[in-house]
Amino acid sequence: MDLMTLKNAIDTGGRIVCLLGMNVSSDAGCFDYRDSDNAYAIETNYGYSPEEIFSASFYNTRPRLFFEYYHKEILNKLGEPCEAMYTLKRLEDRQKVTAVITRSIYGLPRRAGIRNYVEMHGSVYENKCPHCGEMYDIEYMKEAKGVPFCRKCGAVVRPQIVLDGEMIPNGKITQSAYEVERADTLLVLGCSLRSTLAKNAVRYFDGSRIILINEEEDYSDNIADLVFTGRPRDILPKIEN
Ligand SMILES: [Zn+2]
Repeated sequence: MDLMTLKNAIDTGGRIVCLLGMNVSSDAGCFDYRDSDNAYAIETNYGYSPEEIFSASFYNTRPRLFFEYYHKEILNKLGEPCEAMYTLKRLEDRQKVTAVITRSIYGLPRRAGIRNYVEMHGSVYENKCPHCGEMYDIEYMKEAKGVPFCRKCGAVVRPQIVLDGEMIPNGKITQSAYEVERADTLLVLGCSLRSTLAKNAVRYFDGSRIILINEEEDYSDNIADLVFTGRPRDILPKIEN
């Protein structure tokens, strides 16, 4: 597909909802536990797989090791929003993109200045004391040595992210379904249409066109109306040229 086709599809796309996949997140330099080198290093250093550590049962039973991992691997490797994110922000300013939905926890949309986003799995930028409800920013979590405790009541401050074994909050499911149902175009960036993010969204989508930009080709690509093979950060900004 050529870039003019993409530009036209965006210009005539009506209400566009963007799904931001995990490949955008790893391309932006955010820690990617799916990377086999990373997974191996984590197993070697911690004695557990990333999936085991990032689970509710692990968090509850081994908070010290959980927060060691959280500090070193997650908070140290937050990445930076790439140019595609800023293109999305400008498309939102032009009222083309109406919402960005992601399962990434690294807060890329908010850091790019995007206003309407749904972080299905929460964000490292939101932290809360489960006991008294006091909220904490990411700086507080970065500065905490070891387990972060609430200044007010001393309970352990919990990053507002969904760990393995936990449910996605109903509000987020409702909000993302609401946005997708009203969309004319789904713009899928950096994940296949087989990914959980895309599969869930496509179920609610009643619009006319699905645009996919992803580096890896997949048999599910044929669900999309327009497919662009490559990295979203390389392709999407070009529509502004
Ligand atoms: Zn508290």
